[in-house]
Order: sequence, then C-alpha cells, then structure tokens
Amino acid sequence: MGRKTIMERQRKHISSQKFIGMQVIDSKGVIVGNVKDFVINPIDKEILLVVSSKTEGDIEVPLTNVSSIEDVVLLVRSAEAPVVQQAPAPAPVTINCKSCGATLPSHAKFCAKCGSKVRQ
Ligand SMILES: [Zn+2]
Repeated sequence: MGRKTIMERQRKHISSQKFIGMQVIDSKGVIVGNVKDFVINPIDKEILLVVSSKTEGDIEVPLTNVSSIEDVVLLVRSAEAPVVQQAPAPAPVTINCKSCGATLPSHAKFCAKCGSKVRQ
C-alpha cells in the first residue's frame, strides 16, 4: 500500500511553527541558542538555520551541520569550530628513478622503464 509510506513520511515532518524556537545544541552538549528562522540559499539550494545566540547574535547554520531534529536541534559539531576541515597533506605518491628520471609509484623497488633498482 503506497499510502502507508506517505503517512509515515508525514508523521516525521516538523512544521515550521514547531521548528522555530527549538533549542539548538552542539556536539559538545553546549546550548547554542534557539532557532529564530530558516533561510534558503537559492544558488546552493541550501537551507540555513538562523540561530539566535545570546553570546554571538544570529548565527547561520547549514542544515548539513544538523545531525538530528527531534525535541531539540542537535548539531554535528561545535558551532565555534570552523566548518572547513583541513585534510592532512598526502604523502608523495611518486618517486623518480635516479637512472632515467622516470616517475614511479613510491612503493616501486625497480624502475618500470629502465629496470634499475630504485633506492629510497
Ligand atoms: Zn629508470
């Protein structure tokens, strides 16, 4: 029955009236503030929560930073933490053969081009 699925989905919906005013808690359990409003970025098609914080004023939190919405809005990480996480620099994946200069994978023991032993 297709109708059941629709019913279940509707039950999970949260009306904007209920959503606005909800307490927002970050991943450390710190109360960030309350949902004041939500705005839509028409370019990124992203929904941003406008959270009214006592200490920082209004903060915009992307919906992607929300881990769950039940009685409260739980964020994935701390609101103070930078959104962009720096990935550690990857180790070099290639080395050069000392005999012929060919580019080889760093795990290579012998040069694939000239066959000489690659010293690391
Ligand atoms: Zn070589």
